[in-house]
Amino acid sequence: MTSFGTVFTPEMILTHFDGVSWSTPELVPSERISIHPAAHVLHYASTCFEGLKAFRHADGSVKIFRLDTSIARMQQSSKKMSLPEIDPELTRKMVIDIVRRFSTAVPKPPGSMYIRPTHMGTEPAIGKAAVASMTSTFFVLLSPVGAYFSVDSSALRLLLEVDKVRCAPHMGMVKTGGNYASALGLITAAKQTSQADQVLFCPDGDVQETGAANFILIDGNEIITKALDHTFLHGITRDSVLTLARDLGMNISERTLSVAELIERVTKPNAEAALSGTAAVLAPVGTLIYQGQEITVGAGNEGPITRKLRQALNAIQWGETSDSYGWLTTI
Ligand SMILES: *Cc1c(COP(=O)(O)O)cnc(C)c1O
Repeated sequence: MTSFGTVFTPEMILTHFDGVSWSTPELVPSERISIHPAAHVLHYASTCFEGLKAFRHADGSVKIFRLDTSIARMQQSSKKMSLPEIDPELTRKMVIDIVRRFSTAVPKPPGSMYIRPTHMGTEPAIGKAAVASMTSTFFVLLSPVGAYFSVDSSALRLLLEVDKVRCAPHMGMVKTGGNYASALGLITAAKQTSQADQVLFCPDGDVQETGAANFILIDGNEIITKALDHTFLHGITRDSVLTLARDLGMNISERTLSVAELIERVTKPNAEAALSGTAAVLAPVGTLIYQGQEITVGAGNEGPITRKLRQALNAIQWGETSDSYGWLTTI
């Protein structure tokens, strides 16, 4: 099986901002783009992206999950990265147009079409380290993806990092390239030294998130997860899962969770922990590694609540239950 995000549709849709206005979006080969070697993004990382999915329903229709929320986040990210403002209407139309063009390539569940809108500063000006790029390129790339979970996928191992931050604290909520590069060294080291799958960033004992997914702790009827602030990414999956959990009668505590409290709670036999994100929806966490010790989360494998919440969200995405929150956009 090919790994996630390595197969693309032959074309993508692209527009340029010339400092005044956006060009008419055009279909271009998704194999390559042309960019000046002095482009702002290549030197000063003026870039941001989104990640969302389109799903094929049993009746053959194709629906995009939480498109408008994703566009709003992209607008906010572009602003935070001092990139030209994106036009939400134009962006919406571009996403729908490109998904429509490749609608027959949208896999059936549990697969989907992963959508990657990307925005970057293109002004060829290496003297502008402290000045925003006046021009930019915005494109929407598509990648058909299979099931995230295989039959034998086991619960994740997370190394708790209490000294270092994932990225600059005021930029945690932005989906921007540099944030991932800044976390990469720590994640690579954790894989090598602790056979960890991911690093759970907990600067000064404050449980935040991993390199690309949010963290939730499930203790009985309660879900505990960090309240929204600038330090971490405001996942759309996180929001969706919390909404559905509330519907199921669970208590949601969005608040500070300390490493000490986390460690204490996960050792309860029915405790569960999970990572939330567009790629996997909810991935079970089985082990925490902290100060050289391995701590098993609950029974150490996927718990019933994690499974129930993932199935509830998948059921909406796949058209098996009613979309009562209006999360799906028909293309
Ligand atoms: C994208 C991302 C998430 C998850 O966000 P979703 O909208 O649920 O996909 C969480 N953390 C980071 C750092 C991310 O980049």
